Amino acid sequence: MSLPVRDDLVGKQPYGAPQLPEAIQLNVNENPFPPSASLVADLAAAVAGAAGTMNRYPDREAVALRTDLAAYLTRVTGVAVSVDQVWAANGSNEVLQQVCQAFGGPGRTALGFEPSYSMHPLLAAGTNTAWVASQRAADFTLSVASAVAAVEQHSPAITFLTTPNNPTGTSLSLEVVKAVHDATPGMVVCDEAYAEFGSTVSAVTLLGECPRLIVSRTMSKAFAGAGLRLGYLAASPEVVDALRLVRLPYHLSALTQAAARVALAHTDELLGTVEAVKAQRDRMVAGVAAVGLTSVPTESNFLLFGPFDEPSVVWQQLLDEGVLVRDVSTGPGLAGWLRVNAGTEPETTAFLDALAAVVRS
Ligand SMILES: *Cc1c(COP(=O)(O)O)cnc(C)c1O
Repeated sequence: MSLPVRDDLVGKQPYGAPQLPEAIQLNVNENPFPPSASLVADLAAAVAGAAGTMNRYPDREAVALRTDLAAYLTRVTGVAVSVDQVWAANGSNEVLQQVCQAFGGPGRTALGFEPSYSMHPLLAAGTNTAWVASQRAADFTLSVASAVAAVEQHSPAITFLTTPNNPTGTSLSLEVVKAVHDATPGMVVCDEAYAEFGSTVSAVTLLGECPRLIVSRTMSKAFAGAGLRLGYLAASPEVVDALRLVRLPYHLSALTQAAARVALAHTDELLGTVEAVKAQRDRMVAGVAAVGLTSVPTESNFLLFGPFDEPSVVWQQLLDEGVLVRDVSTGPGLAGWLRVNAGTEPETTAFLDALAAVVRS
């Protein structure tokens, strides 16, 4: 049967990292540390409280949650961020989809610097926004000159910058963000999904001088909340008003809002895992070098490692050893590379043992 699917979607592949719960899962950059028993109890109590009024729609504006997110950003960036500058949705993927809906669309172009996050072009495709792939340098860095040249050539409605970048782990300097913003009349998205692992200053500090800048964040990675589905952005209040035109009414459930507020109230506990994650990442970097491979210098909770002549074979061999990593090697500019994220200490040991066994064979 052939369905009347949109012409521009025919032949496209859905996003689909394997989900194999029986393996040691190091393939989607999750934080390996589950919430503590006391946090679980607080989450359960808050969800029970919200469930008592489940016959009512939730706060459409999620004001209490956005107030908490603004306070968090203010605390970590040192810049006063107000509630009307913050927007939240079900994962930063939904936030970015809303950005594409409001600022992209038919006849408009979005530009990214590849290799980068594979969802950016998919979100563009889903909103019928044309995608232009510009390139990073061979070492995956992005210079001011080449970034500015790309936006001047293509005049994109939306430019995606990602720092630290997925899947390379490399960071951008704020100079690049500012220069790109000043070189384009379009919107500039700085995807800071991994910011808490990095050491560079947040682009939130540029919001005052960059009215078309959008900084997106998520609770999926450092906050150990991938299952929560909560992403957010900071931008000018006018940007937030534009997103209200495309969001679905009541898009954030009362249960999500309540749980996210509890997680934010436990910020110090949740972000307390960041140093442990980085320590395991550094073990991976050292272990990869010890077996004669290389990894790309990373400021995130994952690393690109290789290069391999047959990365898909190595991916399968690691899985046969019980460890699931990400085969990114078919992506643009990524031939030969695999990606792995830091696990707990035993998970990291299992990865390093598996890698050593595969390299020996
Ligand atoms: C993981 C990731 C996200 C987060 O997506 P969520 O929908 O918030 O889980 C966003 N951007 C990048 C670059 C990522 O790697």
